[in-house]
Amino acid sequence: MSSDNRTTLLYARIAVNVPHVQGIFDYHLPEETQDAFKLGQLVEVPFGRQSVQGVIIEFPEKPAVTQTKEIQKILDPTPVVTPGQVELAQYISRETLSPLGVTLQAMIPAGLSVQSDSTYRLTDESEIMLEEGKPLLPEPSPSQSRLLDLLVNRGPLRGRQIDRALPQKNWRKTAGSLTRRGIIKSQSTLADPSVKPKYERRLQFIGDLESAHDQMDDLARKGYPEALARRQRALQLIMKQPEPIALSIIYDKTGANLNDLKILIKRDLVKIIEVPVLRDPLADLVITPQSAPNLTPGQKEVWQLILEGFQGNSSKPYLLHGVTGSGKTEIYLRAVEETIANGKQAIIMVPEIALTPQTVTRFMSRFPDRVGVLHSELSPGERYDTWRLARHGALDIVVGPRSAIFTPFPDLGLIVVDECHDDSYYQGDISPRYHALHTAIYYAKVSGAVCILGSATPDVTGRYQGERGNWNYLSLPERILAHRESIQVQLNQADQDPAFSRYQDLDEELLMADLPSVNVIDMRTELKAGNRSIFSRELQEKLAVTLSKNQQAILFLNRRGSATYIFCRDCGYSLRCPRCETSLTAHHSDHELRCHLCGYRRNIPKTCPKCGSQRIRHLGTGTQQVESALKDLFPDVRTLRWDRDTTRKKGAHWEIMEKFSTHQADVLIGTQMLAKGLDLPLVTLVGVVLADSGLNLPDFRASERTFQVLTQVAGRAGRSPLGGEVILQTFDPDHYVIQAAAGHDYEDFYQQELEHRRGLGYPPFLKIIRLEIRDKNPKSAEKKAGVYAATLKGWIEKEGFRSTRLVGPTPAYFSKIRGEWRWQILVKGPNPLSLIRDHHPGPEWIVEVDPPVIL
Ligand code: ADP
Ligand code: ZN
Ligand code: ZN
Repeated sequence: MSSDNRTTLLYARIAVNVPHVQGIFDYHLPEETQDAFKLGQLVEVPFGRQSVQGVIIEFPEKPAVTQTKEIQKILDPTPVVTPGQVELAQYISRETLSPLGVTLQAMIPAGLSVQSDSTYRLTDESEIMLEEGKPLLPEPSPSQSRLLDLLVNRGPLRGRQIDRALPQKNWRKTAGSLTRRGIIKSQSTLADPSVKPKYERRLQFIGDLESAHDQMDDLARKGYPEALARRQRALQLIMKQPEPIALSIIYDKTGANLNDLKILIKRDLVKIIEVPVLRDPLADLVITPQSAPNLTPGQKEVWQLILEGFQGNSSKPYLLHGVTGSGKTEIYLRAVEETIANGKQAIIMVPEIALTPQTVTRFMSRFPDRVGVLHSELSPGERYDTWRLARHGALDIVVGPRSAIFTPFPDLGLIVVDECHDDSYYQGDISPRYHALHTAIYYAKVSGAVCILGSATPDVTGRYQGERGNWNYLSLPERILAHRESIQVQLNQADQDPAFSRYQDLDEELLMADLPSVNVIDMRTELKAGNRSIFSRELQEKLAVTLSKNQQAILFLNRRGSATYIFCRDCGYSLRCPRCETSLTAHHSDHELRCHLCGYRRNIPKTCPKCGSQRIRHLGTGTQQVESALKDLFPDVRTLRWDRDTTRKKGAHWEIMEKFSTHQADVLIGTQMLAKGLDLPLVTLVGVVLADSGLNLPDFRASERTFQVLTQVAGRAGRSPLGGEVILQTFDPDHYVIQAAAGHDYEDFYQQELEHRRGLGYPPFLKIIRLEIRDKNPKSAEKKAGVYAATLKGWIEKEGFRSTRLVGPTPAYFSKIRGEWRWQILVKGPNPLSLIRDHHPGPEWIVEVDPPVIL
């Protein structure tokens, strides 16, 4: 403020995001309240004739335009994004070409704007007039009287409360005029979260066994045999179970009532504990506090290096490579401990929480009361809850999927991305189209946080970053760790003698096992021998043995790629594009094969070009087919299907897992991988129905994805203390992906895949931008794509982007989605981003920068 009492105007740059308005605009701050404004606040600003919401991203010295309008109000005094997040949003917007407003919006919980509300009250002047017995208005209209009476009688009210009191009345207009006349005033606030954490009461046995047995017949007064029996049943149930057990379950199973349980508590046999529980679908998780184990020698080595990051000696992300079960999560837990000790907070990202319940539980058990969990089945209110707690520093850890990266922690110290190769970290369906992995790396860097990326099968690009030294590459020995105690429990569950033969001692408590053996079956040989079933003879035999021992099997079907490529049943030959080497896709409508990368076309051959066989046909095995084939072989088998159809319902993942893990089915047929860390002691056989199906998708990452999923599936069999084996059926047994997966040989896969990509010019050697146009009319989609491609070609030549190539325009692999035809153009080159940034095709186009999938 200057000395002559004239205030200089202060300006704010605001990212606006409401339907039809996207952009960054400058406003000035109202003079009286300048001090109240902060970076990252949600404000309301005039825009044309309406008011819209926006986020303050900057206080520029000079506005970009000469005439600025005034900001109307602050919707929440606490900023909705931190300064670090504003910077992050700018980075995402710059690197993915997503509008800044949309990107900021993605950081704020959905429904927050809905949650904002105004409180209406009488002004001080009005209060004085009331006290003096004067009327507030000489001649109030009926609507004015209604509103004023309400505020006089009930005091300050939120807009939503007034809505309820004056239904169907347009009171807001009245309120506006009363505000202008200084009779009432309104103030915006964000509503309090409507949802609170949920607790459940459980009972745990605390007495000693001897005194429990002594008291067993003395739990009720003489002459009350029924009460005695109830209490005995309850006590026995609680004693049997090491973990606390929910009251509702005790009531259910024993018929005991609250009074019965009170007696047990009074006798010091059991105690009540309150356990925070997650709402569906994780509600069944039992959280028992756990302490940290000693690290294994391999873990210690890795941990020493990560510690350097915490000491500020390295700002590169750590790529932690180790098979499932090698002890990565234990490293994450150690890193979280370090973070909390430093007074900072941690974001833990996991691919899909329904599939990783045990990872989530481990964080909750190790750090009770400090973990917030985000997952797709939370209501907006619950999500908002977690977000607010994090914003106020009331949580230390948030575990969640990709959106967890937007947790507004005040002092972030750690980001972990578990299974960092997972495609679910990329948001491709809506804007901002961002990759949470790159986002995490950048955010960690600007926040001074440590970033750990864990994977059993790092993607080639990530591994290459490690090789080049851009990331710190760390690996854990390839073997599976387990507690002696938990194996004991599993063996008991399986009704087996405690035999630890699969395991070698690592120390007193910890055992380790080698990875399971993988048996590759050549399906061409099966056909030659006259076996036309989708199950090889080997797999049929092994299934029979498994079922006869009352053990369980998993049959896995690669969902991706089971679609429409053509291959020969006799020699395994699949038809590929002579230019791109990707599989050609059948279009039966026009009896044609097409390359979705370059547009190459040819007719569907009648005989195999390689061996002349007539058994060249397209493929399309689904879980239902596998199920019925299985039932033909084993009529009594109990099956469960786990695919898109059966998991659509809320909580379905959990239900299927629960059924399978409690042995209510013998064989699980799935297109999705089983929950990480879920203990399935009875699963001793894993069959991959067709290992090579995914290899034939027209996507440069098809091989990588197939290798990843096969490795994951194979790992599933290695977890049973009863031992286990994997059968991998294929028409292409010599393919390097199949070979590497069967041998658990990541490095072999990596080297071959890297050379392949170098030769064809794919990431990590070149970058890709995918441009897509959709239209209800196929001709017009094609035309628009052609027009833009031609323009782009012109720019490439004019501006000398010599090594930049356009691929297409071609129809996308999924050529029609929701009634719209998709055409795509790929731009490959060292820096296609700068080209497209300058020559953006416009809002009608979908622009993806380095998308993990180009189908
Ligand atoms: P990953 O995350 O690589 O799948 P985990 O961290 O889950 O591996 O480890 C596999 C199993 O071994 C888990 O049951 C875990 O509790 C146990 N474990 C890992 N490290 C140790 C350790 N240092 N001491 C005792 N148990 C361990
Ligand atoms: Zn052939
Ligand atoms: Zn091609």
